[in-house]
Amino acid sequence: AAVLEVRDLAKRYPLTKGVVFRRTIGTITAVDGISFDIREGEALGLVGESGCGKSTTIMQILELATPEQGTVSVLGKDVAALDGGQRKALRRDVQVVFQDPLASLDPRLPVGDIIDEPMRVFGISADKRRERVRELLELVGLSREHANRYPADFSGGQRQRIGIARALALEPRLLVLDEPVSALDVSIQAGVLNLLEDLKARLGLSYLFVAHDLSVVRHVADRVAVMYLGRLVEVGDADGVFERP
Ligand code: ADP
Ligand code: ADP
Repeated sequence: AAVLEVRDLAKRYPLTKGVVFRRTIGTITAVDGISFDIREGEALGLVGESGCGKSTTIMQILELATPEQGTVSVLGKDVAALDGGQRKALRRDVQVVFQDPLASLDPRLPVGDIIDEPMRVFGISADKRRERVRELLELVGLSREHANRYPADFSGGQRQRIGIARALALEPRLLVLDEPVSALDVSIQAGVLNLLEDLKARLGLSYLFVAHDLSVVRHVADRVAVMYLGRLVEVGDADGVFERP
């Protein structure tokens, strides 16, 4: 079964000119009619040079809003057909890990609160949340004592583990990973990638994994989708895509 189905998705931005008097002089087609699926338990790597449309694609998916063109279906549900309540429910199932954990974790909050927040927003009881925060810390290779410390007390790799724990708090089915290790030292990237592989196998998660570093993509992705100028120019298994002459 498909966790994510994208059909003929397109997104255009207005092209403007002028600083004081901004005029629209045309449009930029950032994503130009792309289609792909992610099956349950599968990691799809999305690769391509800067400006090819990767961020636009993942933002369109994360918004769970009616796209300008095409359809996005999550767990068999066309997001355009959802009402507000259904859309909110589906948000639990699609979570994101950002590139830079420093920019995405609130430095004023202890780590326990950072991980707890999505569960609080979704109205999960305080008792369950407390226990779950401890479980999540251990799940990502940290310890329960870490809950009272602040993001600044952790290394880059540990911070990314906190970001991952937060993203897993609501037991999502699909994780969107936007360059999750490219802000980290090369020496600690492997540890985070191994954790991601491990979590995928243990929890049956699916990944949409954006990365520019091919060795990183190879490590995690079951299949790779290559974007170029807003289009998908190739989708295939990781070995096939990279070993073509
Ligand atoms: P990538 O993530 O692969 O670097 P993006 O999706 O960020 O690519 O960008 C795709 C294209 O859309 C680029 O030409 C970029 O300049 C343009 N673009 C992205 N965001 C905006 C925006 N908010 N307004 C106008 N153009 C944008
Ligand atoms: P068990 O073997 O006890 O069933 P799992 O290996 O399935 O446990 O999961 C280990 C931990 O991950 C448990 O604490 C569980 O609550 C949690 N967990 C299970 N599914 C998910 C998910 N989709 N996202 C985040 N955490 C999960």
